[in-house]
Amino acid sequence: MKLIAGVDIGNSTTEVCIGRIKDDSSLEFLSSSMVFTTGAKGTAENVKGIIRGIEEAVSKVNLKVSDIDIIRINEAAPVIGDTAMETITETIITESTMIGHNPKTPGGFGIGKGITLHFDHIEKAEANKQYILVIPEYIPFDVAAPAINNALKKGVQINGAIVQSDEAVLISNRINKTIPIVDEVKYIDKVPLGMPCILEVADTGKTIQTLSNPYGIASMFNLTPEQTKYVVPIAKSLIGNRSAVVIKTPSGEVKERVIPAGKLYIKSQKHIETIDIDSGAEEIMNLLSKIDNIEDIEGESGTNIGGMLSNVKSNMAYLTGEAIENIKIKDILAIDTVIPLKVRGGIAEETAMENAVAIAAMVKTDRLPMKKIAEKLQAETGVYVEIAGVEAVMAALGALTTPGTKLPIAILDMGGGSTDAALLDEKGTVKSIHLAGAGELVTMIINSEMGLSNRTIAEEIKKHPLAKVESLYQIRVENGYTKFFDEPLRPELYGRVVILKGEEMIPILNDMSMEKIVEIRKVAKKKVFVQNALRALSIIAPMNNIRNIPNIVLVGGSALDFEIPELVMEELSKYKIVCGRGNIRKVEGPRNAVATGLVISYL
Ligand code: ADP
Ligand code: MG
Repeated sequence: MKLIAGVDIGNSTTEVCIGRIKDDSSLEFLSSSMVFTTGAKGTAENVKGIIRGIEEAVSKVNLKVSDIDIIRINEAAPVIGDTAMETITETIITESTMIGHNPKTPGGFGIGKGITLHFDHIEKAEANKQYILVIPEYIPFDVAAPAINNALKKGVQINGAIVQSDEAVLISNRINKTIPIVDEVKYIDKVPLGMPCILEVADTGKTIQTLSNPYGIASMFNLTPEQTKYVVPIAKSLIGNRSAVVIKTPSGEVKERVIPAGKLYIKSQKHIETIDIDSGAEEIMNLLSKIDNIEDIEGESGTNIGGMLSNVKSNMAYLTGEAIENIKIKDILAIDTVIPLKVRGGIAEETAMENAVAIAAMVKTDRLPMKKIAEKLQAETGVYVEIAGVEAVMAALGALTTPGTKLPIAILDMGGGSTDAALLDEKGTVKSIHLAGAGELVTMIINSEMGLSNRTIAEEIKKHPLAKVESLYQIRVENGYTKFFDEPLRPELYGRVVILKGEEMIPILNDMSMEKIVEIRKVAKKKVFVQNALRALSIIAPMNNIRNIPNIVLVGGSALDFEIPELVMEELSKYKIVCGRGNIRKVEGPRNAVATGLVISYL
């Protein structure tokens, strides 16, 4: 009788499977476990997590780590590195000032132009001159309004007001002229004084028309075509607002610095192909698919992509102790995305939606660091450790325990950092591939497109359906179904879009509609996983034709998702392939395939 532990070290999770070989050579599975991977995959840091995982698994069946005869870890997959993800875009930094937020209750309406004047200096305002008044919080409406009326009577042209408190309507109702008033401007002390300013408030139910248009701003300020270019991001960020303010800072102070998105250099044996990140994901992926045996991918230095890719390499060099020249990027996945960019010069945290390309990169080193892990694990547990089998083969062996499967079999392992595929035939030959981009990239896209700056919430949005809290007794689930409650919900959920995590409701603190978030989530999943499934399967398929693959088992953490498997299956049904979610050993669902394969392959 022998006790075997199979251990799969992934980028996100470490999975363990415990099996017993009986005296008649039959195999019996005893238990399994799953823990977070400690440290970057393929480094000695992993040992801590591995031991924790093994302890958890053996304790479920009242055994000890020392009872184990052999621990089998997967052979260094060619890809040991984590993937890097970033959204790449040209960054324009302009130093002109603007306020473009949507206070709930601006006052008056129309367009006003004038020089910004602090309320404290209203007495010094000159007749027949045009002003925009800047009113800080310490001036209440019943002081501001009479002073404005007084100035108007003297012939001073007060054409608008910027107010710090939420009192635009109160002021508007008490003055003798209809002027646009923007309120709730948090950083009022940042509003430059004595500068030309335009203020626009749309009529009820409408949005602003002039300041959201670069030519509108240009004509109000008499800008040259050159200067108009600088105001494009400002105008873009103001689209859809009810009110806005743009202040012209003196020429010479408007500086612009551009960090270009940059070019990609894809190196194969024969040439180097070059493509601009700005040409978009489709063209990048098209070019990539035409190049066989990519040796390395680099980014243009001094650009955003150059910075990202060289960071990935130096990070990997640091983790493995390998020289940076030996670290290569073998694959990237590019996805078109949009990101809210903070507009510099903004005074109410304005953002503009910019097109960007999200990139996941796959790094490879030639070193075999699994040996180090094996040595350390053996020293710390006192159990014999063996490096056994390529990850993809093990995954295929494990997947074969799914009822209804047979050889030849293909697996699609949808993990956190990478999407891996392998084909195992009757003769035991295997073809496998590792591609950049999987579950973490989906989380990153949700995080950046929603402007959340919160990966934890983005991860929850990825994994669970949403609902809109329509009253304290009622929610509308994203599938259209309405659910009623006998007890009132927590008041802070009212009016919010919430994540339905089992019984728990997590509010999303963001103004986006439920429909928009659902769309972002679904499109991100589709772009990453459908594209990677097709890329991976056509590489491993006999004669590179997906139709030659008889059946596919989906495994890995992302196969647990409530919509990713359907999206992939729907696409593959076009090729008439039997494809489904794995159910490893009839009990694990799509998890534990590699660990299970490691135990099976001992026989
Ligand atoms: P790896 O083999 O790289 O360690 P895993 O197979 O553990 O990766 O998969 C990790 C990924 O699976 C993460 O991106 C995680 O968000 C995703 N994931 C885990 N559980 C779920 C779930 N219930 N629904 C959707 N995605 C999930
Ligand atoms: Mg994995």
